Formats: sequence, structure tokens, C-alpha cells
Amino acid sequence: TIAGKMLAELKQPFLIAGRDFYTTVSIGIAVFPEDGENPELLLRNADIAMYQTKAHGKNGFREFTPDMNTHHVERISLENDLRYALKEGGQFELHLQPQISRRRRRIVGIEALIRWHHPTQGLLGPDAFIPLAEECGLISGISNWVIAEACRKMRHLRALGYDDLKIGINLSPRDFERADLLERITEQLTLNNLPARCLELEITESLLMNDAEGVLAKVRQLRRAGLLISIDDFGTGYSSLNYLRRFSVSSLKIDQSFVRDLGGGSAGGLIHAILGIARSFELGTIAEGIETPAQAEALSTLGCDLMQGYLFSRPLTMAALIDYLASPPPIA
Ligand code: C2E
Ligand code: MG
Ligand code: MG
Repeated sequence: TIAGKMLAELKQPFLIAGRDFYTTVSIGIAVFPEDGENPELLLRNADIAMYQTKAHGKNGFREFTPDMNTHHVERISLENDLRYALKEGGQFELHLQPQISRRRRRIVGIEALIRWHHPTQGLLGPDAFIPLAEECGLISGISNWVIAEACRKMRHLRALGYDDLKIGINLSPRDFERADLLERITEQLTLNNLPARCLELEITESLLMNDAEGVLAKVRQLRRAGLLISIDDFGTGYSSLNYLRRFSVSSLKIDQSFVRDLGGGSAGGLIHAILGIARSFELGTIAEGIETPAQAEALSTLGCDLMQGYLFSRPLTMAALIDYLASPPPIA
């Protein structure tokens, strides 16, 4: 009851210098004595409950339960492992997934997807640690590594004669809060003797909605430097068409959820609409998550030529990618 009243009270705008400011509040509750018999423990458990509130969309309250503790301890230890991995090196790896032009029957690019060889938990995919890295401020360290490693890989591929490929890397919205993003990228491009156009930065729609003006300036700066920018998982978030124009992005990645449904229902209609938007803004398009020949065929018919998905190849280690490039399997 008290937490509810506090939330209602704090929901009111604060009037500061003639403007209304709104704030959200996250409350964690721990009760004496069952949730802690001393002040330290009570505060710690209330804190854990508060983080649960934040993790579940903020602006609310939660009461501490013992299983939150296990979750919290696991999280902290994963965070420590991540810190260590960044400091020591040697635990992260980029897997590379080919992107193909179905019409031209050739590979046009690759996407870099991070993997973590965790010392005890084995191979972890990005979903297991990227959100955590974003929350605890380690994401910029990871992105720095990804930028540098992707550039190193490109240098290697170009030395082997694959000089018309580009590589896509995934950035976090957090990377756009940094002042040194462009500098970091150009430094690595120079170091590896790469033209800017061989690097494509994948950003999400949500980024375009946050702090639009600040992000807009950064995106423009990156584009002016010659880098390509694509919007990942396009169609799953909320993009204002106006932002698409203003952000001068280069292409849209059609989310795999639309591709998965191809063949039945309205998904074909959605892809058709996205392709129409892309055409009128003069943006490129690539579809993700193609798993069946029927999906590839349907996309071709709709006019989407660039594709990426298990049908063509799973994300590969560098060695496997080099084999794949040397003798590409027939394109379905
Ligand atoms: P994404 O950028 O949309 O990447 C596509 C995801 O779909 C990848 O999962 C890829 O392995 C998977 N995928 C590719 N083809 C198919 C298919 O035909 N069927 C199905 N079911 N899945 C397919 P992954 O590698 O687990 O990555 C998940 C997400 O993690 C990525 O989504 C991206 O948002 C993020 N991520 C990956 N690497 C990085 C990174 O280096 N930095 C950051 N910040 N995020 C990353
Ligand atoms: Mg991506
Ligand atoms: Mg995607």
C-alpha cells in the first residue's frame, strides 16, 4: 500500500525552471525479520528487489524473494567473468555469417556475430551476455574489441583476394553515447588499411528514437566518414519514417520474424511494404533468417535479392569461412 502511494505521488511532474519533468521510480521491498535480521542485509535485499523492478520495466515495486538472491549472485559472477575476459583477452570470438546475392549467385558480405568461450559455461551466444554488458557498462569495451577484430579479419580476407566484401558489425545504442566512436572506428580502419565502405554498422530502431538529435548528429558523422549504416531487425521496433530520411542510413535488414512467416498470412504483404519504403528512400535491403528454399524463392519474387540465413550458411569460424569462400556451395 505504501509503495503504491509513493509511486502515485512521484508520478506527478516536477516543475523546474518553468518546465515539467517526469521521472520513473523503481522500488524494492525487504521486510524485517524474514528478509534480513540486520540493516545491512535488509538494505542489500531491498536493493536486489529494486534491480528486479528495473529489469521488469521499471516504474513499479517488488518484494524480495530468496530466489532473487541466486539470480543476483549468478549475475554478479557473470559480470566479474566478463570483466576478466575483457581484461585478459582470448575468450571472445567473432563468427561470420555470409550474406549473398541470390540473383548474382555470390557472396557480397558477412556479418560478425560475437561468441564468448566462457571458462566454465562453454560457448555463450550474445543473448547470454550482451544485455548484461550493456547494463554494467562493459559494452563499450566489447564493442571496441569487435571493431578491432572485425577490421583484422577484413584485412586478412582482403590479403587473400576477397577485396569486395563488406563486414557488418552490431553496435549497441550505448555506443552512440560515446564521444569516441568514430575515432575508434577510423583508427582501426587506418591500422588495417581498409576503406570505410567495407564496414557496415548495424543499429536498432530503438536507437533512432532515443535522443534523436544527438544520435542524428553522430550517424551523419559516421556516414560522412564513408561508413555504411543499416537498421537491424527492421520492422520489429518503432521507426518513424521521417527519421529514416533524416538519419541517412544505407540499408534495412528485414527481420527474420517476417521471413519465417513467408508462405502464409500477411507476412509477404509486410515485406512488400518494407521493400516499397526502402525503394522510396533509396535504401538497400537484406532479409535475415532464410531457412528454406521456399522462403528464398518468395523473397526473390518480392524483389529482395540480398539474403542471409541458415539456408546459405550458419555463422562460421574464420577458418570455415575461408573454406566456404574458396569453394562456395551452390546457392539455393
Ligand atoms: P542479429 O544482429 O539480428 O543477428 C542475427 C541472429 O540470427 C544471429 O544470432 C544469427 O546467428 C541468427 N541467425 C542467422 N541466420 C538464421 C536463420 O536462418 N535462422 C535463425 N533462426 N537464426 C538465424 P546470434 O549470433 O545469437 O546473435 C543474436 C543477436 O545478438 C544479434 O542479432 C545482435 O543483435 C546481437 N549481437 C551479436 N553480436 C553482437 C556484437 O558483437 N555486439 C553487439 N552489441 N550485439 C551483438
Ligand atoms: Mg545484426
Ligand atoms: Mg537482426
